[in-house]
Amino acid sequence: MKVVKFGGTSVASGPQIEKITNIVKDDETRKVIVVSAPGKRSSDDVKVTDMLIDLGEKCLNNEDTSDALAAVTGRYQSIAKELALPMTVIEEIEADLKERVMYDADNSGQFMDQMKAAGEDNNAKLIAAHFNNIGLDAVYMNPKDAGLLVTGEAGDAQVIPKAYDQLSALQKEERIIVFPGFFGYTEAGVLTTFPRGGSDITGAIVAAGVNATLYENFTDVDSVCVANPMVIDQPEEIHHMTYREMRELSYAGFTVFHDVALIPAFQHDIPVSIKNTNNPSSDGTLITASRRKEDTYYPVTGIAADKGFSIIYVRKYLMNREIGFGRRLLEMVEEEGLSYEHLPSGIDDTSVILRTSQFSLDSENRLLTRIQTELGVDDAYIEHGFAMVMVVGEGMHETVGLAARATDAIAGAGVNLEMVNQGSSEVSLTFGVKERDADNALKALYEEFFTRVAKQ
Ligand code: ASP
Repeated sequence: MKVVKFGGTSVASGPQIEKITNIVKDDETRKVIVVSAPGKRSSDDVKVTDMLIDLGEKCLNNEDTSDALAAVTGRYQSIAKELALPMTVIEEIEADLKERVMYDADNSGQFMDQMKAAGEDNNAKLIAAHFNNIGLDAVYMNPKDAGLLVTGEAGDAQVIPKAYDQLSALQKEERIIVFPGFFGYTEAGVLTTFPRGGSDITGAIVAAGVNATLYENFTDVDSVCVANPMVIDQPEEIHHMTYREMRELSYAGFTVFHDVALIPAFQHDIPVSIKNTNNPSSDGTLITASRRKEDTYYPVTGIAADKGFSIIYVRKYLMNREIGFGRRLLEMVEEEGLSYEHLPSGIDDTSVILRTSQFSLDSENRLLTRIQTELGVDDAYIEHGFAMVMVVGEGMHETVGLAARATDAIAGAGVNLEMVNQGSSEVSLTFGVKERDADNALKALYEEFFTRVAKQ
């Protein structure tokens, strides 16, 4: 059986839902359908999840909610009208939203989570009603009844492994299951959502639970591209890659598939296929544990660049001989509640690279003062405005001279390299550059690995 997830744009309107209906009808092994909340119908539209966040915040601030509530109901109304669904469907959605607005707001995190989850939950009910209306035997499945157990961090839930066993019972269901994405329930029964974009995560968990032959993730692009199409004009498509490659690329800004969603797929060895609802016959991108023998072999699979990094630079003569220096430095980082991304070091210096969004001016000053006073360093400072540019590919470790080609290409574009890091897995090479240089570095690397020498 296949688990199929449809993203926000695939379920944003009646005509889009008709497309997904045809996709489901096309293959009878598509048994579990995980859906997002209605997303944008055009670039200036608003996602239902964002409308619900607005509604929830108005409730928490004791503001008038009538317009915000009407706006959400209106979105479902227009979908129901386009699909010629009976009025009762909308009445139920309206009643559900009114009930959510009245939910106990003492715990604002839990309040907001149950509000956000209304987007997927009501869309799943609506889509199940539509399937039944056109003669498909389908049933809405509540994540609580299905046993999708999660931890209780509001907006940041994680699956509890017991959930996989419970979800395996879905295999016995004869009807098509329509399952809302984005949330699960704690053991105490509290609704908790995954991070934003989390319907991908639900799909992966359910696919692992039912031991699916394939997890199909339908979105609005034909496939994952080798580089960001906003920077590179019509980049090549990737038709196959490994979980490790996808993980590295999504870390550095590829947003097609949620990086957390890779974990259940990877742990349970479920192949993932990225497909386009608007062009379902296109090849898409297949993600599996290892490369396929029949694939043409290129050492570089993709190139990504992500901005918003800061570097804590620390220099101390004979640092290499000082036992415990690194531990004490990282302890200070930890005590500020910061997580670090990379740790390149030399004999007398080390750099801690973090996401800038974690810093406040206070935490930055406190940290720097502690490093300067408690570690007896010769020099320490923090700089912002860096981007990490990553060259990713399973084949890199077997290819001589690849790092030289990459650095030559970056130098050729007149970009100064601030940092180079190659993890021991050798599935990626990371270059730190100034944010303003990131696009040029990306273009130079694309030119080097994908256009200049007829594909490496
Ligand atoms: N609707 C949620 C969001 O916009 C989850 C999802 O679509 O994956 O983040």
